[in-house]
Amino acid sequence: MDSISSRINKVTPSLTLAITNEAKALKAKGEEIYGLAGGEPDADTPEFIKEAATKALKEGRTKYTPVGGIPELRTAIATKLIADNNLEYDPKQICVTSGAKMACYMAIAAMVEDGDEVIIPAPYWVSYPEMVRIAGGTPVIVETTEDKGWKITAEQFEEAMTPRTKMIILNTPGNPTGAVYTAEELRALGEVALYEDIVILSDEIYENLVYGDTKHVSIASLSEELYNLTVTVNGFSKAYAMTGWRLGYTAAPKPLAEAIAKIQSHTVSNATTFAQYAAVAALEHGATFLEDQRGEYDVKRQFMFERLRAIPNIRVVEPQGAFYFFVFTGQLGLKSQNLTDKLLSRYKVAAIPGIAFGYDNGIRLSYCTTLDVLNEGITRFEQFCREH
Ligand code: PMP
Repeated sequence: MDSISSRINKVTPSLTLAITNEAKALKAKGEEIYGLAGGEPDADTPEFIKEAATKALKEGRTKYTPVGGIPELRTAIATKLIADNNLEYDPKQICVTSGAKMACYMAIAAMVEDGDEVIIPAPYWVSYPEMVRIAGGTPVIVETTEDKGWKITAEQFEEAMTPRTKMIILNTPGNPTGAVYTAEELRALGEVALYEDIVILSDEIYENLVYGDTKHVSIASLSEELYNLTVTVNGFSKAYAMTGWRLGYTAAPKPLAEAIAKIQSHTVSNATTFAQYAAVAALEHGATFLEDQRGEYDVKRQFMFERLRAIPNIRVVEPQGAFYFFVFTGQLGLKSQNLTDKLLSRYKVAAIPGIAFGYDNGIRLSYCTTLDVLNEGITRFEQFCREH
């Protein structure tokens, strides 16, 4: 078949899903696998959220909703954005989407034209460059470094800019590095963006997972000018253990919000109706769950940091957010996929190769699993590092 569009021919399938499937296949064969590759909370969705969905189903909430979502949810999101993020949006500026993934894609599709360049700091979340390609744009990858905490600097941003630059994608807290940008860092990046009118896609899906004294900051909250240049993306998957529910949202200046709604109206129509009612319950009653989750992840994060920093031949910075470590493995002299293949086949540990995130000298290890699995997985990883 040669009728695949040139845009899609340029797109590579998700490597993270490929590894996860391989680990699942080995497990199905009866092998014990220590999974440090996961990108979703190990907790189940809380009961009160499930109950809200069941109630909605029983009440017959099974028809289409307005394109941007049910008014109750858009209002609850607007309330949350004021309370948590110091961001004032009218509910009409919010579009409830089928996952934050779709939110990111629609924001890109609404703004990126053929040949437009989009700056993406690496290591990046696997889907950003491919979304840009599907939209006809060109991803411009800027490699960040471990000594800068895996964060793009204003200087790097400025250097990567060309007359074709349309957008920069920021992800804080970040996948795969766990990096969290401070207000100062965001202000410096924002100044560069403002100078050249570069739009900002701010993916804040991990906002609830920040540790210690670290605070999450929304770049759109830093000034009115930045607000007008930014689309904020967030969702329910990571915070409320709702990955399978497919619920996210965009919050954007009015013209952009309308453009995103236009795309949704002709592609998805609306996010799943009864799931939207569950999301209202999550926002209204989820505070304790969020706090408990954060506490549990923090214990695992600290445990993992202590163990990883004692392993020879690798380097690691302490992540301040999300549920990942990005481990620098350059000294082992293996390409990242070769490394994770060996780690899986010989040591039974599943990890994601850095190449999936545009950085071949590292791997991503996640701690959204039990302490027992973490302990055994790291022990085996340490053995691997000592033997290579
Ligand atoms: N952004 C980032 C940085 C992510 O890691 C993910 C999920 N892996 C998403 C967006 C998409 O999340 P959702 O499940 O809401 O589509």
